[in-house]
Amino acid sequence: MDLLGTLRGILGGGDLLAGEACAPFESDHRRLYRGRALAVAQPRSVEQVARILAACNEARVGVVPHGGNTGYCGGATPDETGTQLVLSLARLNRVRSIDPGNYSLIAEAGCVLAEVQRAAASAGRHFPLSLGSEGSCQIGGNLSTNAGGVHVLRYGMMRDLVLGLEVVLADGRVLPGLTALRKDNTGYDIRALFLGAEGTLGVITAASLKLFPEIRSTATALVALAEPRAAVTLLAQLRDASGDAVSSFELIPRIGIELTSAHIPGVRDPLGAPHAWYALCELSSSRPGEPLEALLAETLGAAHASGLVQDAVLARNERERTALWKIRETIPEAQRHEGPGLKHDISVPVSALPQFVERGAAWVAAHVPGARLIAYGHVGDGNLHFNLQGRGAEGAALLERSEEVRRALHDLAAALGGSFSAEHGIGRLKVAELERYAPATELALMHAVKRALDPNGIMNPGKVLRGA
Ligand SMILES: Cc1cc2nc3c(=O)[nH]c(=O)nc-3n(C[C@H](O)[C@H](O)[C@H](O)COP(=O)(O)OP(=O)(O)OC[C@H]3O[C@@H](n4cnc5c(N)ncnc54)[C@H](O)[C@@H]3O)c2cc1C
Repeated sequence: MDLLGTLRGILGGGDLLAGEACAPFESDHRRLYRGRALAVAQPRSVEQVARILAACNEARVGVVPHGGNTGYCGGATPDETGTQLVLSLARLNRVRSIDPGNYSLIAEAGCVLAEVQRAAASAGRHFPLSLGSEGSCQIGGNLSTNAGGVHVLRYGMMRDLVLGLEVVLADGRVLPGLTALRKDNTGYDIRALFLGAEGTLGVITAASLKLFPEIRSTATALVALAEPRAAVTLLAQLRDASGDAVSSFELIPRIGIELTSAHIPGVRDPLGAPHAWYALCELSSSRPGEPLEALLAETLGAAHASGLVQDAVLARNERERTALWKIRETIPEAQRHEGPGLKHDISVPVSALPQFVERGAAWVAAHVPGARLIAYGHVGDGNLHFNLQGRGAEGAALLERSEEVRRALHDLAAALGGSFSAEHGIGRLKVAELERYAPATELALMHAVKRALDPNGIMNPGKVLRGA
């Protein structure tokens, strides 16, 4: 029987899409890549995933795992040949169990992140991963990209939130690693290989995830600052003063306020006068009635008196808190209204971040004078989205210079001990960057791991590693 016949036998007709029906799975959400799929498989069980991979391995057919398709690097899009099978995890979407006493839950890969957050909350627990895409990205995608988001400062990245994984290997064998243990020193950390592997080593089908005490008190403020250096100093002051209760600390440039006020309904500048930079800071605690607002106001007051902080507004209720967060979370959407731009997802040590902004902004001003710089993001993690925006004809000219700009900014990040991909991964977009910046020994080890786990090269071919 041919492969499609075998897959139909495994899945039943309705769960195997072909032709026009594959279209939603053939491009990434930014429309940077458009491919063509052999078919789209939508398995409903781990056993089906295992049989599909065994059949594809036998037939030497590439398999492209597909989560919520919110990734920024084209990792979930098939190539243009029409020979790769897209494997959608969307129907593997059960929260299998919650263990509040162990502060853990087991979720299948196709669970949408927001559903997992809700499931944890329903058991009086907190799952802290939080991204702007949380209403559509899936746990399997979050694990495979090692997603970050707005709480990394306190809880770490997705890699830090995992206790165990269930994975189907390229040849169809199932790795049953759904442990709920926090201590288990029994040899190599095999699970770690699949975190951030972007579907190139196997298909994650379920994960055992860490939960935390429910958040019962928060305090949020938007703080005006003269420069990013003040943000780094203020972050340290807040961490010290609050007993490390800072759960988010996001940098916003003036242009972020201007673009969101112009394009996003309901967004307005909450401060009277314009300022060059802002930090959105949030403290949180599991203790009900914790006086975090008073603590935040007092610390910001002292910082204002010393000249570090220019102005600040504290959210007085949930509505005002949501309004402050809306400014931060809608920057990417507001940018889209302004036309084409260049995006960079860099990280450096937090202490080196002001230097990156100063040197990066100076380079942009000198070499791309028509571009507007929109540098925003997770300053508490040393991670900035260092984006350049053009308008009309300027935008098209900017895109033509993407290689030169990327090189300058990625070289600058590397010179400061940083990374060219802080939280978005490699996918198809940054394969050449990985080859350029990864140490040769590390790259050789990655290829060796790939050959060992996927000798026929069927798992997400061409993503992360070239020719693999
Ligand atoms: C508005 C917006 C805000 C965002 N904010 C952030 C942010 O703050 N931080 C951040 O880190 N990212 C952010 N992202 C990027 C994106 O949401 C994350 O990378 C997310 O983790 C991708 O999940 P997904 O389910 O959409 O994966 P997809 O895009 O479907 O896939 C991503 C990669 O994982 C692989 N994959 C998917 N599922 C599996 C599986 N079960 N097994 C093996 N491989 C699999 C795919 O093949 C692909 O290579 C944002 C995106 C948007 C649109």
